[in-house]
Amino acid sequence: MKEYYNPNRESWKELLERPTISLKEIRTVVQPIIDAIIEKGDEALTAYTRKFDGVELENMLVTEAEIKGAAKHLTTELKEAIKVAHKNIAKFHKAQQIKPLKVETMEGVICERKSVAIPKVGLYIPGGSAPLFSTVLMLAIPAKIAGCREIVLCSPPNKEGNLHPAILYAAQLSGITKIIKAGGAQAIAAMAYGTETIPKVDKIFGPGNQYVTAAKQLVSLDAVAIDMPAGPSEVLVYADEDANPAFIAADLLSQAEHGVDSQVVFVTINDEILSDLQKEIYNQLRELPRWEIADRCLQNSLVIILKTEEEAIDLINAYAPEHLIFLCKNAREMADKIENAGSIFLGYFTPESAGDYASGTNHTLPTNGAARAYSGVSLDSFVKNITYQEITETGLKNLGPHVEEMAAAESLQAHKNAVTVRLNSLKNK
Ligand code: NAD
Repeated sequence: MKEYYNPNRESWKELLERPTISLKEIRTVVQPIIDAIIEKGDEALTAYTRKFDGVELENMLVTEAEIKGAAKHLTTELKEAIKVAHKNIAKFHKAQQIKPLKVETMEGVICERKSVAIPKVGLYIPGGSAPLFSTVLMLAIPAKIAGCREIVLCSPPNKEGNLHPAILYAAQLSGITKIIKAGGAQAIAAMAYGTETIPKVDKIFGPGNQYVTAAKQLVSLDAVAIDMPAGPSEVLVYADEDANPAFIAADLLSQAEHGVDSQVVFVTINDEILSDLQKEIYNQLRELPRWEIADRCLQNSLVIILKTEEEAIDLINAYAPEHLIFLCKNAREMADKIENAGSIFLGYFTPESAGDYASGTNHTLPTNGAARAYSGVSLDSFVKNITYQEITETGLKNLGPHVEEMAAAESLQAHKNAVTVRLNSLKNK
């Protein structure tokens, strides 16, 4: 990790740039994939699965027998863990349901708002370098609670042409039955435009690598809504002098092992911690099965030493991290000053992995600075809020003349008439 002592504010923008390929560059790879899916449907999907996932599939649709058979490949402990995670995630997302709203804005004028589920949704579950079955829970549970009518799940197959049994088990537990072995930009395009096997959906959810994220952004210009740009994972850890270097190292490495394009950032105002931290990172890294990925990620990662907490807050807000961990005594106080972050982890005993898997919050979060304006996935992401209004005769008498006045001032005579004809009919009563 590169160390920066008191970098001046003018340098922050460049310093905090993510090590991702620009959308412009990646578009040249992804757009032809999208075009091929539009033109050739399943045929192109099968060809890309052969090319990128190295497997020839006869049937990309996961069968009922495959879903039912998944549980026997998992240990009792893992099934139990998935059930606990399911319960917590369901509890937190159910609590996000909002009651319908009904307000009489003036006598006889009733305005309402009600959440209605998005009918058809597509869930993308990354599978390139790790089978993220936890993402199944994070997307399928709120989709089900919201009441989405049709839910399709896509994930890239392994070299044997299968999905990891934990992905299938989590899907079954969450009530998902339409599961397709397809990944990358091609799966995103298939859900956006529809193919012979994959239904066209209204909104696509889920994290993925840069190709997946770019494909989501491109199809959203044309065919379908998306949750947000949820690309390569990142974490920013802030720690004080009392933080255990082993905890800091473990938190940084937990995101570094995601992928070589991930980024981890450590911020502190106490540089005495650094030598112990470097030792911890080295020792823990050596023991990781994915050490090569984590090691490459660390090369893109930063240690930033600042002078004051206030400066640290400003830098964190400028970075807008997907995950933000405060390993410090005044974690809550620091967190209250944050305006840009996907999800915040408070205190020495709150590892980010808890939120990744099982505490209850959603792990599908905005990356690459998108946390400045986007929230992570939640129940809201799966619904639209439809507004309603009902106006009584008295209500129209109260409101109508004002609407006529405004419509006339905008030179929209037909708008005015829609009120006038009704008010006239009331005069004749
Ligand atoms: P993935 O499923 O996103 O991508 C695998 C697919 O990428 C392959 O099936 C292939 O089709 C495509 N691909 C690979 N190389 C390609 C190339 N050269 N050209 C075109 N397409 C190509 O799985 P992954 O690669 O393991 O990535 C998962 C990502 O998800 C990681 O970057 C991780 O950090 C991120 N993630 C983000 C969040 C979040 O909330 N932001 C949560 C979990 C994971």
